[in-house]
Amino acid sequence: MADCLFCKIVKGEIPSKKVYEDETVYVFEDIEPTAPIHYLVIPKEHISKLDEITEENSGVIAHIFEVISKLAKDMGLKDGFRVVSNCGAQAGQSVFHIHFHMLAGREFGWPAG
Ligand code: AMP
Ligand code: ZN
Repeated sequence: MADCLFCKIVKGEIPSKKVYEDETVYVFEDIEPTAPIHYLVIPKEHISKLDEITEENSGVIAHIFEVISKLAKDMGLKDGFRVVSNCGAQAGQSVFHIHFHMLAGREFGWPAG
């Protein structure tokens, strides 16, 4: 998608602090972190939000969770971490390229506000 912020980040047209990359997934630091570790995990292909996951594109979403699991192990996040995907404006989604916030390094309340 030409005018999508995260598609531009994937293409390197907008700078980002890369954490991990493979053929289908890109991970980078959130520009406004809300925890000591705050990564955004995204598919390289444009899927706008969680309710657009289908049988055809769900493989990359499964892979995203493999990547998150591997990163958590590599980083030694034994005390826990949180993964969040806001779907739609009411849930707080502001960038309409699906992304999974990976948060760690502090206590998190529940239910989330
Ligand atoms: P959401 O509000 O769930 O759609 O999350 C979007 C996230 O993208 C927010 O946490 C923003 O801080 C983050 N964000 C926006 N622009 C950038 C950028 N250029 N680089 C890194 N993170 C960004
Ligand atoms: Zn996009």
